[in-house]
Amino acid sequence: MNLTVGVRRVRQTAVWAGFPGMWNMNFRLWPAMLALALPSAAVPTVQGAPVAASEFGHGAPPIASSQTIIVGGASLQIDFADGALDLSKAIVVTRIQAAAHSVATYYGRFPVPRARILIIPVPGRHGVLQGTTWGDRDGFPALLRLRLGQTTTPEELADDWILTHEMVHTALPSLPDEQHWLEEGLATYIEPMARVQAGELTSQSVWRDMMHGMPKGEPDPKDRGLDRTHTWGRTYWGGALFCLMADVEIRRQTGSRLGLQNALRAIVAAGGTIDKQWPLERILKTGDQATGTRVLEEMYARWSESPVYVDLPQLWEQLGLKAEPAGITFNASAPLASIRTSITAASGPNTAEADERLRDFKRFSEKQSL
Ligand SMILES: [Zn+2]
Repeated sequence: MNLTVGVRRVRQTAVWAGFPGMWNMNFRLWPAMLALALPSAAVPTVQGAPVAASEFGHGAPPIASSQTIIVGGASLQIDFADGALDLSKAIVVTRIQAAAHSVATYYGRFPVPRARILIIPVPGRHGVLQGTTWGDRDGFPALLRLRLGQTTTPEELADDWILTHEMVHTALPSLPDEQHWLEEGLATYIEPMARVQAGELTSQSVWRDMMHGMPKGEPDPKDRGLDRTHTWGRTYWGGALFCLMADVEIRRQTGSRLGLQNALRAIVAAGGTIDKQWPLERILKTGDQATGTRVLEEMYARWSESPVYVDLPQLWEQLGLKAEPAGITFNASAPLASIRTSITAASGPNTAEADERLRDFKRFSEKQSL
């Protein structure tokens, strides 16, 4: 979800909305829906004038305890607001550490050097309820706030995807409203990829969820392209479909050697993180330079202003994916099977070639002042 706070961008994710569920509404309505679903005392004042001291209007919540961990080269300050939690703080910190490790695995490091992670216990609820990420807040390049139900079980915490999703948001500059779909699409697509590469998920479960979720991102007959159609389905899954197709196409053009991951690492390496505001053109160009292709720029030109349908059943077949009652099966002799395996490979991207391209790109961008 996106709220505008002054000129700053906010990303929110609420699990109570049933993600990846059936909602299909303008995401700008979500703040109101969210306010209805949470106890009023837990809803921060975020609309209207920028809040100088914190995101919490008339005062930040009292902090019961604070600790700092180092993950992927970043310093993460974890603050627990006052409130009862059945879970021990140690298990929550361990989960944060695991999520940060997945994101650092995907990007080669944690995207921002410092972040504050604020845990807000919510009385009488269970589960990881909602996450929000801001850039450049409270003296940190990124502030993540997680609402955690008081009676959350260790199993619910272990299954959480919201923390990883929110952390992925730190790895992209803030974009205007029209391109919010790229922020949410990337987080939707990368979250499971980061977790599978870190060994937290199986590739079967990742592809099962992709096969289930991607149809929600297809345009309907009234669609006017991703920059102009701000429904829930097009924002989250339409954006994710763009990312999947970009990943497949980059890998097809580079013989599976490079993928979207290399493009995204280059954007972070060039300083493109949530505390910055870059024009989209600069983001796409930076990513394309890293892979030696024009996939992102060319796809954006097509997908942003017109509906692009993807023949998903054909794509799954070409990737060698088949949904059986017992689960997903892989066909190793399918034409794009090597692309499928390279997307989720634990070894990550082709580091040597990618690093060389990144060095070339840095030289190029210094000359061009990209
Ligand atoms: Zn999000």
